[in-house]
Amino acid sequence: MYENLEDLENSIKGCNKCKLCNSRNNIVFGIGNKNAKIMFIGEGPGADEDAQGIPFVGKAGQLMNKAFEGIGLKRDDVYIANIVKCRPPQNRNPEKDEVEACINYLRNQVMIIKPKIIVLLGNVALKNILGDEYGITKVRGNWIERKGIWYMPTFHPAALLRDESKKLDFWKDLKKVKEKI
Ligand code: URA
Ligand code: SF4
Repeated sequence: MYENLEDLENSIKGCNKCKLCNSRNNIVFGIGNKNAKIMFIGEGPGADEDAQGIPFVGKAGQLMNKAFEGIGLKRDDVYIANIVKCRPPQNRNPEKDEVEACINYLRNQVMIIKPKIIVLLGNVALKNILGDEYGITKVRGNWIERKGIWYMPTFHPAALLRDESKKLDFWKDLKKVKEKI
């Protein structure tokens, strides 16, 4: 375990703990305010993120930025990371062995940042953080408290690109987050 983000990030350089290392271009460590009260956790990098080494810079990220703007939340105020740090081929879901290999990096990030609130973006984040028994359509929009951290599960922004009708719920969930801080 590392005490600061720089040391942790340096320790991950060249990581080959899982097979995703074979196809990635860049490790997407995470970005944002290291003192953030709110952390967002996605699934894994897509093509744009893999090319730039920064989370949520593609279409889904742009949608998320718009929602942030709409509720007066600045991207610079939050911290954004993913369940796995390397892109799964064809954007498939990360497999169990890949998550197991990678998730301790994320846990270490959470330990360092100590957010009060964690927004879980979609089922992959929800299930891998809070447990397989949860499902996003059922629990989204509801606060779940664990060990002093408040979790807000909501849709993954990529799901909003596929289904416009989810946008309002996503917006509502982010508003709850804004109101709580
Ligand atoms: N989708 C994710 O889950 N994470 C990203 O960083 C980009 C798209
Ligand atoms: Fe290492 Fe995580 Fe990338 Fe796998 S996904 S190679 S564990 S950084």
